[in-house]
Amino acid sequence: MGEKYFPLDKAALEKLSQQYPTPFYFYDEKAILENIRRIKSAFSVFPSYKNHFAVKALPNPYMLKILAAEGFGADCSSYPELLLAEIAGMSGENIMFTSNETPANEYKAARKMGAVINLDDFTQIKFLERTAGLPELISLRYNPGPIKEGNAIIGKPEEAKYGLTREQIINGYSLMKDKGVKRFALHTMVASNELSVPYHIETARMLFELAVEIKNKTGVRLEFINLGGGMGIPYKPEQEGINFEKLAKGIEAAYNEIIKPAGLDPVGIRTEWGRVITGPYGWLVTRAVHKKDIYRKYIALDACMADLMRPALYGAYHHITIPGKENTPLSETYDVVGSLCENNDKFAVQRKLPKIDVAADADVNSEEAGDFVIIHDAGAHGRAMGFNYNGKLRCGEFILRKDGSIMQIRRSETVDDYFATLDILRLKDFVV
Ligand SMILES: *Cc1c(COP(=O)(O)O)cnc(C)c1O
Repeated sequence: MGEKYFPLDKAALEKLSQQYPTPFYFYDEKAILENIRRIKSAFSVFPSYKNHFAVKALPNPYMLKILAAEGFGADCSSYPELLLAEIAGMSGENIMFTSNETPANEYKAARKMGAVINLDDFTQIKFLERTAGLPELISLRYNPGPIKEGNAIIGKPEEAKYGLTREQIINGYSLMKDKGVKRFALHTMVASNELSVPYHIETARMLFELAVEIKNKTGVRLEFINLGGGMGIPYKPEQEGINFEKLAKGIEAAYNEIIKPAGLDPVGIRTEWGRVITGPYGWLVTRAVHKKDIYRKYIALDACMADLMRPALYGAYHHITIPGKENTPLSETYDVVGSLCENNDKFAVQRKLPKIDVAADADVNSEEAGDFVIIHDAGAHGRAMGFNYNGKLRCGEFILRKDGSIMQIRRSETVDDYFATLDILRLKDFVV
C-alpha cells in the first residue's frame, strides 16, 4: 500500500505560487531517478536491457534529457516527438519509431535519424520501401488477437487497430528477409495501466514463443524483443505498484525456458514504458477558487479537464490531497470540478475530503487565496493530453531538481499563444 506524497509543504508552495500562480505541473527529479535505478537494477539480468521512454507520456525535452543521461531511449510516434527526442540528445537506434497509419514524411524523418522503425501493418513494408527505403533493421508490431486478453484502456487485442496478425508476422519477416533487410525486432503492446505482474510475464512468454516460431518458419533470428508499454501505477492509495524484481525474474524464467533451448540466446529485451517512469512523481498543483452547494457539494479549481483529461476520458481515479490538511478528518463529500462547459469536467466525484477553503469565501478586502489542491499521479499522460477547448490555456511545468532547486521547464500559455495560429491582420479585409 502506498502513501501519497507531495514533495513541497504548504509554505514552500505558497512561496512558489507567489511568483508562478497555479495551476501548474510539478515533477520530482530525485524520485524519478530512484525509480529508474530500481528498474535498471531489476533488469540487469538482461545485459542489453533498455527502456525507450514513451515520449507521449511527458513530452518535455528537459525530462527526456534526464532520462537520456540514465541510458534510456525514446519511443516516438510522430515527427514532433522525434524532434523532441533529438534535441534532448537521443539519436539513432536509441529511438524507436512506433507509429501507426504513418505518413510518408514521418517515415523519411525517422529513417534519416536512424531510428528503429516499428511497422504496424503488413502493407507498411512495401509503403516504407517505396517512401523512405528499407533500413537494415526493422521491427514488427504483433497483435495477438483473441489469444490474449486486453484491459479497460486499450481494449481487447482483436478489437484494437494495432499490429499484424500471427500469419502476417511470419509472412512479414519472410518478405523483409527476401528484400534484403538484415536485422529484425519484434514488438507488442497489449495492455495499458496494467498492474498484474503475471499478465506482463505472460506477454513476454507469448513473444518468446513467437520468436521461436519465427525462427523455425522463416530462419529469421530476432535481435531484440520489445515488450511495449502498459505497466500500471497505483493511482489508488490502497493499490500495490509493480514489483520490478518479480517482473524481471518472471521474464528471465520464461527466457531461460523458451529462448535458450531454442538456441536464440542472446535476444535483447526492450520496453517502452512511459507511465510507470514518471507518472507517480508528477502532480497537477491547483487552488480551490469557488464552492457551490446544490444537490451536491462542489469545489471548483483553477484547473480544468483541459489540464488533465484522464478522469473525464477514462473515469480515471486521481488521488487528491490538501497541503496543510493531511491529518484533517475527511468530513466532506465533494465533486471537485473545473470551469469547462462540460459536465464531465470533474477531477473527483463524490470524494471524501477535508473541508476545503475557497478563494471566493475570503473577506472582500482580503487577498487570501483558497486551499492548494494537489492532484496526484499526473506525471504521465497529464499535461501531454491537454487541449484548448473553451479557450482554456494550458499550464506550465516545473521540476524539483535533485539539488532541491525548482526550475520552470515550460511556461504556461498566454492569450498570444492561443491567437498565434490565426492571421488576425487579414481579418479587416475579410468581407462578409
Ligand atoms: C502509449 C504507448 C506506450 C506507453 O504506454 P505507458 O502506458 O505510458 O507505459 C508505449 N508504446 C506504445 C506503442 C504506446 O502507444
